[in-house]
Amino acid sequence: MGLLSVIGQLAQRNPGGTLIKNKNESLQPEKVMIIFAHPDDAEGNCGGTTAKGIKEGKIIHYLVLTNGDKGSDDLSMTSEKLAGIREKEQEAAAKVLGVSGLTFLRVPDGELEVSVPFRREITLLIRLHQPAVIFTHDPWKPYQLHPDHRAAGFLALDAITAARDHLFYPDQLAQGLNPVELERFIYSELNLRIFGWISARASRSNFRRFDAMKVKV
Ligand SMILES: [Zn+2]
Repeated sequence: MGLLSVIGQLAQRNPGGTLIKNKNESLQPEKVMIIFAHPDDAEGNCGGTTAKGIKEGKIIHYLVLTNGDKGSDDLSMTSEKLAGIREKEQEAAAKVLGVSGLTFLRVPDGELEVSVPFRREITLLIRLHQPAVIFTHDPWKPYQLHPDHRAAGFLALDAITAARDHLFYPDQLAQGLNPVELERFIYSELNLRIFGWISARASRSNFRRFDAMKVKV
């Protein structure tokens, strides 16, 4: 697991719960959702693990919450242009790894908030994709500087709870979606290794700043 810290293990749902596991579930490839704040966070935080999981046959879906339109030190850059670049870079990085799908919420960078509307939206996407495992930011990481990283971690955790319990947003269930009982969730932080680093290099608009800092990987 490298630098990943597995510190979240969801309790088993009580036997009286309403969820019934699909009898063929063990025959299906494990689905993983990676919920991160910005384009490039997924590669930087768990790209190596993602590559390994895909090699093992897991189906990986990215949920990128913001458009990353602030992450540049190029004074001639505009937010609109940067958002487009970073989305394309994210698509390229996901392609390198073999990620099955991406969803972009395109919230302006730095403006992600721990709020019920965002929680509701992420809950919907978790129920739509039915993952067994979710990777996200650790919102309690000491000195977690970026507000979007803190918010993304809290939102993902709040949405995991909401997605599990059928009384959260019953309108989603009325549309045919089912609650989700995760096997585990994983707080994932910087893990720039092998494929993670290779794919992260696709995100040149942001990572050149790390090059400048001579970050050791
Ligand atoms: Zn980030």
